[in-house]
Amino acid sequence: MGNTDAKTGGIALRNLQKRYGSARAVDDVSLTVSPGEFISLLGPSGSGKTTTLMMIAGFEMPDSGQVLLDDKNITRLPPHRRELGVIFQNYALFPHMTVADNVAYPLRMRRVPKAEIAIRVSRILDQVHLGAFASRYPHQMSGGQQQRVAIARALVFDPPVLLLDEPLGALDKKLRQHLRNEIKTLHKQVGKTMIYVTHDQEEALAMSDRVAVMHEGRIRQISAPQDIYRRPADLFVAGFVGEVNLIPVTIRSGVIQGPAGEKLLVAQQPDQDKDATLCVRPEHLRLEATAVGISTGIHGRVVDMTFVGDATILEFRSDSGLQLTSKVLNISADAMPNLGDLCVASWAASDATILAA
Ligand code: ADP
Ligand code: MG
Repeated sequence: MGNTDAKTGGIALRNLQKRYGSARAVDDVSLTVSPGEFISLLGPSGSGKTTTLMMIAGFEMPDSGQVLLDDKNITRLPPHRRELGVIFQNYALFPHMTVADNVAYPLRMRRVPKAEIAIRVSRILDQVHLGAFASRYPHQMSGGQQQRVAIARALVFDPPVLLLDEPLGALDKKLRQHLRNEIKTLHKQVGKTMIYVTHDQEEALAMSDRVAVMHEGRIRQISAPQDIYRRPADLFVAGFVGEVNLIPVTIRSGVIQGPAGEKLLVAQQPDQDKDATLCVRPEHLRLEATAVGISTGIHGRVVDMTFVGDATILEFRSDSGLQLTSKVLNISADAMPNLGDLCVASWAASDATILAA
C-alpha cells in the first residue's frame, strides 16, 4: 500500500456553491487539504457536509466553483474517473457477495488480473483485521465488521484520497471509539488524505489534523482541534464544539464588565467600547467561597450539583440572574463548594475568549 509519490492526494475546493431550489446547501466553500492530511467537516445536520463531500466525490455537480485534485480540475469528471475512495454511513456492501468479493469489486471494475486481485484483497483484509472473514457474507458480520469491509473496499484500489461520510454513525458508542482509533491508525499506516464528515465534535477533535466547522452551508472556522476548542472564531463554533458559558459583557476603555458591572479577566485585548460575549468553558470556571476584598469575578451561589462519575457539575446563579456551569473533576473532594454556598465565579484570563455578541 501507499503511494510511491508521497505528494499526491491534495484537494482544493474553490468557492463551491450548490443550491436545491432556493436553499443554499453549500454556500461559497473554499478549502485546501494537504496530501496526507486528515481533515473533518464538522457541523449539525443540514449544514452542508454531505453535499460538500458528494461534490468532491462527483456524485453531485456544483452550480459554481471548482474541485481540484493535485492541481487538476476534476469538477466535471464522473465519480469513477476521480480515483477517490468513498465510504458511506450505511456501508452499502453487496449483500449477495462474500467479503472477499465485495473488496475485490473495485479491482474487477478496473480489470486488474485475477492473481493480483487475490493478493491485494488478502493484504487489505489483514490490514483491517478481517483476514479470517474473507468467505463470510455481510449479514454474518457485526456492524463494526461490515464497516471495516467498506473501508477495505475503499482502500483496495489505492486511491490517494479517502472520503468518509459519518462512517461510524450507525454504531454504538464503545464501538465508535474503537473504530475511530482503528481509522486513525490506518491513516498513519497508509498516509492517505482523509476527508471525514461527522456531526460528533468529540470524534472530529480526536481524529483530525484540522477541523472545518460548517453551519448553514458555510465554513465558519478551519483550525487545529485545540484552536477550535480553545479559540473559537464565533459564538456558533463556541457553542457547537463543547459546552460553553456565555456571559454578556460591556467593554469601556479596555475594561471588561459583567452584567452587574463586575470587572472580568480576559487575556486578549478587546476592541474598544463594544457589547460582546465572554466565553468560558465549564472546566475553566472556578467557584470559590466569597471572601472580603475579591474585586474580580461574578458573585452568586451554587444552586444545583450533579455527580456524573469523573466530575461534578455545579450550577451557579449570579446575583444578577446569570446561570453558569462549572465542571470540577472529582479528584480532591475538599475543594468542592456545597449546595447553597455563596461563591465567586472566576477563571484564568487566558481561558476566556471575547466574541462579538
Ligand atoms: P449534512 O450532511 O450536513 O447533514 P446535507 O449536505 O445533506 O447536510 O444537506 C444540506 C442542505 O441541503 C439541507 O438543508 C438539505 O435538506 C439540503 N439537501 C441536501 N440534499 C438535497 C437534495 N437532494 N434535494 C434537496 N435538498 C437537499
Ligand atoms: Mg450528511
